[in-house]
Amino acid sequence: MVKDYLNIFGDNQIVLSETQLEQFNRYFELLVEWNEKINLTAITEKGMVYHKHFLDSLSLRNLIPSEGVTLLDVGSGAGFPSIPMKILYPNIKVTIIDALQKRINFLKILSDEINVEVELIHGRAEELKRNNSYNYVTARAVANLRVLSELCIPFVKVGGYFVSLKGPKYEQEIKECSKTFEVLGAEFEDTLKYQILNEEKTLLLIKKIKETSDKYPRKFNKIKNKPL
Ligand code: SAM
Repeated sequence: MVKDYLNIFGDNQIVLSETQLEQFNRYFELLVEWNEKINLTAITEKGMVYHKHFLDSLSLRNLIPSEGVTLLDVGSGAGFPSIPMKILYPNIKVTIIDALQKRINFLKILSDEINVEVELIHGRAEELKRNNSYNYVTARAVANLRVLSELCIPFVKVGGYFVSLKGPKYEQEIKECSKTFEVLGAEFEDTLKYQILNEEKTLLLIKKIKETSDKYPRKFNKIKNKPL
């Protein structure tokens, strides 16, 4: 049984102001409203949206500092995980890139309406030329880890992290990526495990240890057909 959505944040020791609670509430309303017109989410029941989208996105809260860092969210879709994190931590600088214009349009309406400042880029991550520049790069439900690594790791600043939000089965994917990480100048550091409604979830923390060569990311057909 899904608990009353109002208690969800409190039960997870997340303290929010009235303004932040209102921002999440409006986010939910707009998500459901726009989902009728463009495909944004399969989950629309309020408690489920709060758990599986909002709370899941906020799993990054113990990892990412509350201010003074840059975060790039690759393939953010309807804003996950970066918009909930920006609501929680208004002083982080968030950039979102998504390949679908209609999702970027939704995010523009949403960010204006709930008054959060985010940089929105319509395009493909592998075409963005900002190598080695973000403290954190996040991705949830975008591609398998090997492909995703080449899409994301080049953008991370040395000393920063690529954080991949995965389910319980990540070990095989990590194994397949040992060479991938090395070529891109990163190493697998740790996992952070948590549960959402009894489902096992995992944050994979991949640390950038040296600058990625300008050769990466390659064009998408190469990334996909000849993964590193
Ligand atoms: N991260 C969101 C979430 O967890 O709900 C959205 C996941 S959705 C399944 C995948 C998103 O990634 C889509 O919005 C798609 O347009 C975007 N995407 C896929 N490949 C991409 C790429 N190479 N560059 C930018 N966006 C990409």
